[in-house]
This record gives sequence, C-alpha cells and structure tokens, in this order.
Amino acid sequence: MTTPIRTEEDAAEATLRPQTLADFTGQQALRENLAIFIQAARARGEALDHVLLHGPPGLGKTTLAQIVARELGVGFRATSGPILQRAGDLAAILTNLQPRDVLFVDEIHRLQPALEETLYPAMEDFQLDLIIGEGPAARTVRIDLPPFTLVGATTRSGLLAQPLRDRFGIPLRLQFYTPEELLRIVTRGAQKLGFALSEDGAWEIARRSRGTPRIAGRLLRRVRDFAAVAGIAADRAMVDGALNRLEVDAKGLDAMDRRYLRRIAVHHNGGPVGVETLAAALAESRDTLEDVIEPYLIQEGLVLRTPRGRVLGLPGWQHLGLSPPAGFAI
Ligand code: ADP
Repeated sequence: MTTPIRTEEDAAEATLRPQTLADFTGQQALRENLAIFIQAARARGEALDHVLLHGPPGLGKTTLAQIVARELGVGFRATSGPILQRAGDLAAILTNLQPRDVLFVDEIHRLQPALEETLYPAMEDFQLDLIIGEGPAARTVRIDLPPFTLVGATTRSGLLAQPLRDRFGIPLRLQFYTPEELLRIVTRGAQKLGFALSEDGAWEIARRSRGTPRIAGRLLRRVRDFAAVAGIAADRAMVDGALNRLEVDAKGLDAMDRRYLRRIAVHHNGGPVGVETLAAALAESRDTLEDVIEPYLIQEGLVLRTPRGRVLGLPGWQHLGLSPPAGFAI
C-alpha cells in the first residue's frame, strides 16, 4: 500500500496531478529556479537546457517533466530507459520531435550503454549518428535533430555514468515533502475528488504518507473507499482506523519497512549489516531496498548508512518498542 512505486491502480493519479508550476506544492527552491530557467528559455525562443530530476519514486518527477513542457508551451514525449532496447527506437523518437519539445526519459539510469552513447551527440550538438547497413557495407550517416530538451529522471544521480550526468545543464534533486506540504496536497486532492474529509483527517493522512505525494494520493483514495462503504464521516478517528487496517502505522511505515527494521534489530543486534545480506534475508532486490525502502527510513533517522553497513538509529529502536543494546552510542 505504501510502496512509492507506480502500479496499475495509479491511473487514478492522473486526476490528482498538478498541471502548472504554481499548482505544484513543495520543492520550493527547485520550483523557483525552474521557473526562472523556463522564463529565460521562452524569452530567447530556445530549447530549455537538459534537466535531470533525481529523487525517490513518487515525489513528482514525471509530473514536473509534464509541467515543464506545458510551461514552455511545447510538446511532451515520454519514454523510459528499460523500454528503449535498440538505437533505432531512440532514433525514431528523436527524429520525430518538434523544435524545443520535451523528451522525458524515466529511469534513465537503466538505458543501455550503447544508447547512452547515441544520446551524447544528440544532447550536445543535436546530431544523431546512425549506422546504416551491416558488415563492410555499413556506413554512418549524420542526421540533424531539432533542438530539444531532455528531461531525465532517476532515483539516484550516482547511478548515472559521469559523462551522461555532465550533459545535463540543470540537475535538480527532489526532497521528501513535509507533513504541512502533504496536508495541502491531500486537502486539494480531497476537493478534486469531491470527498468530504475533515482537516484533522487530512492531517492524519499527510503525517502517514512517508513524505511522498504518490502515497498520500493512494491513501486518500483508499480512505475514501472505507468512508463510502461504511457510510461514515471521514474524521480523524475514521482515518486512523482505515490506515491501521491498511497496516500503515503511526509513522506511515508499512509491513515491509517494519520487517526491514526488525531484521536489523533482532538478527543483527542493531547492525552494522551489509545491504546485500538484508536484501537476501528479506527476499527483496538490493535496488528496491536502496531506492524505495531506505531513503525515507534514513531521512527519519530510523536507520543510518555507515561504511560498515546499515545501523539502527535510536528512533528505529523506539519505533519498534525495543531497547537498544547496552553501550549503544548512535
Ligand atoms: P515520480 O515520477 O517521481 O515517481 P510522479 O510525478 O508520477 O512521481 O508523482 C506521483 C503522483 O504524486 C502524481 O500523480 C501526483 O498526483 C502526485 N504528486 C507528485 N508531486 C506532487 C506535488 N508537488 N503536488 C501535488 N501532487 C503531487
């Protein structure tokens, strides 16, 4: 329920997506900078410099990419690193762009290395080198592309090869949202859905959304279901009951988060323990732990990332209702 990863059901998200930069809550510094760069690019009639958005899933990278295109008044094309398999796929997309269009590449860190190389001259000089034919008859043709803006999204910028990272003139990092920002998002979402949610009910969802708008939207829709079926008003007590039924605890952690914390506490006496060991024990991929589960737990101080492995922080022990071992010093 609280996985920030996009799922099928999230088609419903489209209704909650903010459409303009002014409508986009939070990420204030990022938003202000972006507004200036967009205004300058518009005034010059040029394509906006390439933008790299990085941060955990569900924080608004896709939403921002769409907003950038809309605010620039240009077309928007979207694809993703894992979908693009052959250089021809990428070439087809690039050669079909209109001048100044935004091309959004989600999960750009999962782009094949060969395609990354195709992207370099495309990003730098708006040129595409295509190999036509095979064997001795193969030759390279150079195609001019319209100037365009690549907006790349990735969970961690460190996953990107340095030469690719260097080609983004505007790297932007998204932060987890504060409960106050999420309150605004939940309140606006409830209005859009025509759902009568009390302010303290909205607050309860905001506090328990793991700092992530996608989770806030999902919990809001589930709470609305519970309220509709039970035929009761959505006040704080009702929301609390619904979230408990969804196994979202008081801090917004779900069953997986708690398994993760408990594993470090109980099996490793609070750590340090390597991320690979944890991934194997929890039957999750290392990437899922690092990109999806850990960032919020680390930001909240429940877990610490040390050179020797993961260590449970004092808030982590407290959250589990356990005492840290004697001599605990973090
Ligand atoms: P990402 O691409 O980072 O995984 P998305 O852009 O798909 O995240 O955002 C997930 C959902 O969260 C969106 O559908 C939107 O409804 C909501 N959302 C994200 N950021 C905001 C925001 N700043 N204000 C309101 N809603 C937001």
